[in-house]
Amino acid sequence: MDVPVVRSVMELRTEVATWHGAGLKVALVPTMGALHEGHLTLVQRAREVAGRVVVSIFVNPTQFGPNDDFDRYPRTEDDDRRRLATVGTDLLYAPGVEAMYPPGFSTTVTVGVVGEGLCGDFRPGHFAGVATVVTKLLLQAQPDIALFGEKDYQQLQVIRRLARDLDIPVTIEGVPTVREADGLAMSSRNRYLSGEERRTAAALPATLQRIATAISGGADVVASCAQAKMELVKAGFDRVEYLEVRDAATLALLTAAPITRPARVLVAAWLGRTRLIDNLHV
Ligand code: AMP
Repeated sequence: MDVPVVRSVMELRTEVATWHGAGLKVALVPTMGALHEGHLTLVQRAREVAGRVVVSIFVNPTQFGPNDDFDRYPRTEDDDRRRLATVGTDLLYAPGVEAMYPPGFSTTVTVGVVGEGLCGDFRPGHFAGVATVVTKLLLQAQPDIALFGEKDYQQLQVIRRLARDLDIPVTIEGVPTVREADGLAMSSRNRYLSGEERRTAAALPATLQRIATAISGGADVVASCAQAKMELVKAGFDRVEYLEVRDAATLALLTAAPITRPARVLVAAWLGRTRLIDNLHV
């Protein structure tokens, strides 16, 4: 059966209010579409924790920089809708840009500290765009729970922070990264990769795994990160923006071995015209 689609806040709220009125828990899974198994895993998890599942698809212009891939970002709503039907989605919310940002729109949500450094440094304005649209989606849908992937680890921490700071009554749940057979994190952007780039891309998770193991074993953090960056370039990556070990919750930079608290090693690197990110638990 087709997943029903709504495009306005009023229609969305009417559906959600009906479900809440019937005592059902509602989960929201925000996405930008071009759905893959990673997204569908979030929906499946949402099904386990809530009686009704809303998926949103919105390619949010405000989180793309002027040189980013907003124009060429894949838009595949019909396909997405068919995929969503296979995992039991109750409602697709797919607003247009004008509905989300009507004339006169002038409010921005910015999240300090966890939104700084890492992608925050290399994509100015990105997390303000993410934080603003996610705040809007949470207030529009008013879900009991919202699910986000650990694949975008800094984004997940930014969203946890804004929900706490703004007293938005929602539980934020992180879902582990879903990977291809060779370890590459699934991403809508992987479809940009040429055959050769796709083979090279497997070096990213492999290098992360190696460095996470070494650092867990007490290896020098700064030297291991520098070495891993060199390995990625040798493997064929054009440029590594960052490869760092950070506190898993605060994202504070960790440089001293041994690492004694939950940490993540996070990376962003370019392969041709494609920017890939990934992260692993240390
Ligand atoms: P996107 O459409 O890329 O904005 O992603 C929508 C949501 O899916 C975000 O919460 C992402 O973190 C999550 N996501 C994307 N790729 C994966 C993946 N490979 N595994 C788990 N979650 C993912």
